[in-house]
Amino acid sequence: MDATETRQWNSDSVAADLERAIHEHRLPPATKLGEDELGEAYGISRTVVRAALHALSHRRLVELRRNRGAFVAQPSVREAREVFEARALLEPRTARSAAERMTDAALAVLEANIADEHAALDARQDGRALFLSGRFHVEIARIADQSTIEAFVSELVSRSSLIIALYWRRRAALCETQAHHALLDAFRHRDGDAAEQLMNGHLLDLVTSLDLRNVAQPATSLREALNR
Ligand SMILES: [Zn+2]
Repeated sequence: MDATETRQWNSDSVAADLERAIHEHRLPPATKLGEDELGEAYGISRTVVRAALHALSHRRLVELRRNRGAFVAQPSVREAREVFEARALLEPRTARSAAERMTDAALAVLEANIADEHAALDARQDGRALFLSGRFHVEIARIADQSTIEAFVSELVSRSSLIIALYWRRRAALCETQAHHALLDAFRHRDGDAAEQLMNGHLLDLVTSLDLRNVAQPATSLREALNR
């Protein structure tokens, strides 16, 4: 959060701000989200904090644990696979629709998004670059004019960011910008076949860059390890 801001926060804007911080890896998985601390940080009541945390738990970005409070979620290997399987079902077809509906204005939005991503990478703002590369995917669903799919993709992209934080192998390649450039080319030519294929390949690449072996997750506490 920008401390110099004097805006009025409500549960929606706090949830969006926290989601962005999670997406940008400023709040890594398992970070404790204390109600008092958040209330002070945003200048809001605990009721508003709780509403924001509940909204994020519905998006599976935050885990609410009874008597222990809220934590940034830690997707399991199984959840990680499910998230990418859902993306593989939704996004290639959505990319095809986006290509078929592409306008010059929408193309300009995608081009600006890629330019911002490059600027962030050059400035070594990896978190911001990760956020922007995710937003590229959400924009495609928006351009396809599929608001229900857009909401799903937005949640899946944010959860992907948590998965990347936990299971990433190749540090150098976030969402390969090459893949986004190739997609952009297909969109320029309004080529639905190419867009669908490229998105499919891009998501497969993303999955292979994750280390999704069934490694036992370290328990966060002894009591948890002992199930007591
Ligand atoms: Zn991508």
